Amino acid sequence: MSKIIAANFKMHGDVDFYSSWLKKFELPKQNTVLFAPPYLYFDCFLKDERNLLVMSQDVSDEEIGPFTSQISAKMLNEIGVEFSLIGHSETRDKMGFTNKNVFQKFLSLRANRITPIICVGESKDYRDGGKHFGFLEEQLSFYKAESKTGLIFAYEPVWSIGTGILPKSSEIFEVVEFIKSYFDFKIKVLYGGSVNASNAKDLLRIKNLDGLLVGGASLKAEEFAMIAGS
Ligand code: PEP
Repeated sequence: MSKIIAANFKMHGDVDFYSSWLKKFELPKQNTVLFAPPYLYFDCFLKDERNLLVMSQDVSDEEIGPFTSQISAKMLNEIGVEFSLIGHSETRDKMGFTNKNVFQKFLSLRANRITPIICVGESKDYRDGGKHFGFLEEQLSFYKAESKTGLIFAYEPVWSIGTGILPKSSEIFEVVEFIKSYFDFKIKVLYGGSVNASNAKDLLRIKNLDGLLVGGASLKAEEFAMIAGS
């Protein structure tokens, strides 16, 4: 079955990097592939004749006004962005976004016909203390009564992001089931954290997992093409 495979390039690259990356990248047919470069390089992807799906790494929780440095969902929609990450742990940590801010971003994206991908995931302390389900439940609770269609979460345990430490498949499965059973309607759950070309196939065999969010390994076009074609 077709999966969602998303590249989060974070704050990497420049015009030359993206133009050569795109030349090397072969788009697989079997999966839905999303690309999240920094805002300044959206154009490289939007102009690509393969009709690539562009994803923002974040969005403002405000609609319009005196919010220096912010980009609104309406602006993203206007230039052709169709997806946006929200609540990535790096933005929660560095910019202090709360669950409430993230939910506000979600509402703004929805109102502007952009599909949100909501990142959730516990820190090492919560995991080691066996409190990860409680932590996740708090992050999920904002969406319980919300929209019945098209919710997508990315489970990204903070202790796995950029560390090379991969949870056991059984641990990922347990969380995927936990998130899916929390809602009484169908949702999708992706996994993110230290995904690479060597582990992607096994990860995609995890029952009920709908795809992958890839950070570091997306920077190599050939490697990301292998993951995207898994
Ligand atoms: C991420 O930060 O979204 C991520 C998945 O990072 P990495 O693949 O580098 O662990």
